[in-house]
Amino acid sequence: MSRLEAVGAQLEAPLLVTNLTNVFYLTGFDSSNAALLVRPGAETTLYTDFRYAEEARAVSGVECVITKRALMRDVGERLSGRVQFEADVLPYLEWERLNTGRAELVPTHGLVDSVRAVKDDDEVAKLRRAARIADRALEALTAETWVGKTERQVAWRLQELCHAHGADDRAFESIVASGPNGARPHGRPTENVIERNTLVTIDWGVQADGYHSDCTRTFSTGGVLPDRLREAYEVTLAAQKKAVAEIGAGMTGVEADRIARDVIEEAGFGESFGHGLGHGVGLQVHEAPRLSTESDDTLVPGHCVTVEPGIYLPGLGGVRIEDLAIVRDDGLDVLTSFPKELIEVR
Ligand code: ZN
Ligand code: ZN
Repeated sequence: MSRLEAVGAQLEAPLLVTNLTNVFYLTGFDSSNAALLVRPGAETTLYTDFRYAEEARAVSGVECVITKRALMRDVGERLSGRVQFEADVLPYLEWERLNTGRAELVPTHGLVDSVRAVKDDDEVAKLRRAARIADRALEALTAETWVGKTERQVAWRLQELCHAHGADDRAFESIVASGPNGARPHGRPTENVIERNTLVTIDWGVQADGYHSDCTRTFSTGGVLPDRLREAYEVTLAAQKKAVAEIGAGMTGVEADRIARDVIEEAGFGESFGHGLGHGVGLQVHEAPRLSTESDDTLVPGHCVTVEPGIYLPGLGGVRIEDLAIVRDDGLDVLTSFPKELIEVR
């Protein structure tokens, strides 16, 4: 079944897809101004403006309509009857332009995203390659000197190494957080100089062939670490390994999160793990499903997820360990190969 057929089979009314990543996923058509009307049974119309006309006409299996540059107003005038739209991505102003009164607009979300969350073999191969490029770049970085450099210098060097190892781009702005900065889960690299005898958390990813990787490792810059940080590392590692060993298809996002959270809570660090265990990764770095206390998702084979518990101790530092993995019937197929034991860098 094609991707369009998979979406079309779920529909009771036509769905107007305005999330451009979803348009790309369903048709391979990459543009900054497009919408896709998928009808039950998968008969599909692709709307775009003159700038993308040639590429649009080359998309097979869809009817192609060239609209005015103000696409939503134009599409709105062409629609009638019940039409579902992606309420999580359509801005209010665009909704107004679409809502000419001819169509009855019905808000939905997640219809394409839930199909997109399940990766086929070709997508898994691309994700695996992205993860490998990221691993190799980080391995090269660990051979260099970090102490005495600023977080921003190390982040920039990592970007160069990712490019040298085959990345098309970064997946997101890398996090290089040393010392007390490590307590901020999504802190941006600063001009702070990396010191000896502390922890450095690196959260980085690459984009290759349209697919992203996402991984985190925490390093030590010397053997004389504060006891509390060393303990935080051991607890995070134990939680991460347990989650990787036990997560599998059929589990809910809440249950998956609970595996790691129990380990961290039992060790007395419960208050210090304030984010979810993981998220889906694919054409975007953050996509369905979610692994967290607030998740509504259930894991199925083919989901690509991160497993990333962390412990953050304000004023002292932090630890996060994150792998990228594919959900299988019998557990997780981990795409990340970088070691997880605490590695000392110079
Ligand atoms: Zn990450
Ligand atoms: Zn992540």
